[in-house]
Amino acid sequence: MSIEVKNINKKFGNFVALNDVSLEFPAGELTALLGPSGCGKTTLLRIIAGLEQPDHGQVLLDGEDASARHVRERQVGFVFQHYALFKHMTVFENIAFGLRVRPAATRPSESVIKEKVTKLLELVQLDWLADRYPPQLSGGQRQRIALARALAVEPRVLLLDEPFGALDAKVRKELRRWLRRLHDELHVTSIFVTHDQEEALEVADQIVLMNKGHVEQIGAPKDVYNNPASPFVYGFLGNVNLFRGRVHEGVLQSSGIAFDAPDHAKTQDARGIGYVRPHDLEVDRYTSGAEGIVVQLRRAHAIGPLAQLELERDDNGELIEAVISNERFGLLKLKEGETLVVRPKRLQVFVDDSI
Ligand code: ATP
Repeated sequence: MSIEVKNINKKFGNFVALNDVSLEFPAGELTALLGPSGCGKTTLLRIIAGLEQPDHGQVLLDGEDASARHVRERQVGFVFQHYALFKHMTVFENIAFGLRVRPAATRPSESVIKEKVTKLLELVQLDWLADRYPPQLSGGQRQRIALARALAVEPRVLLLDEPFGALDAKVRKELRRWLRRLHDELHVTSIFVTHDQEEALEVADQIVLMNKGHVEQIGAPKDVYNNPASPFVYGFLGNVNLFRGRVHEGVLQSSGIAFDAPDHAKTQDARGIGYVRPHDLEVDRYTSGAEGIVVQLRRAHAIGPLAQLELERDDNGELIEAVISNERFGLLKLKEGETLVVRPKRLQVFVDDSI
């Protein structure tokens, strides 16, 4: 089922939680709603589910206005951060719950329920836990059972609100891969709320980046990561170095260094900032007359495949972070305290008098 929200506005008192949000969630895709705490992700999810009413705007499910449809009629499956399993019921009964509470006319027979629950337990790869109670499960197992329970009623939409938020980093990573594989099998239109950019980039087909109640950017993970539409998106999707200066006719001048800014060919003397990801900096040992920004190597963390370099600019004392391969770090034989030169391989300039 496709989902569309149109011009959604929501206030809590005087506080604007959602400001004219319009979005499409394509059928069968997994979309991540990503953004900092308090940006309105959960409020939007609750409005789509019918748990909250917008002040203005529409939710369209498969093109049909859902305003008059009750939560139950929207056929939505939920998974929340805090496991909402019934403690006094076995895993089997938890998954069967949504089927058992159906009105007699649509309730499946006992044998159909058994078959369905068994299949779902196999799908989440926990069939051996059917007779356990939730307190006897690990956090990750509970979330997989919560997902099986949400899927039991064959939802047309699956809404996941920080489903792995309470788990430790390693389990989180395992579960998000598992969720992606499961999604590829089932293709239920899914919306996944997270404030973890790495999780969103790895799991989603589409990312919606939100900030202070509005949408900053929508796109495939690689598009939003490679072409951030705003300084906010740049900063939110990973580490970034800022080079402040003035932009004039396609050139950013920052501390006496000229950077190409072809997107701003027509700009006349404006304030601008160049954004450069740490891995988009080329690093070399300094030689007299070398072009680039002269820096001192303050610290190097060379663990695993990458070496993270903390550099201090000679001209203004600002810190720069660079990431190079550990192999190159080894070849260069860099030592802390050495003078180096860095050059951006890729830089995006934003011009705005408010930045
Ligand atoms: P988090 O990642 O922390 O869960 P979020 O992006 O999901 O954040 P929301 O839960 O949607 O954010 O909340 C958006 C804003 O609306 C927050 O500032 C929150 O305090 C406010 N808010 C949410 N629900 C209510 C409510 N029932 N009454 C008053 N303010 C609310």
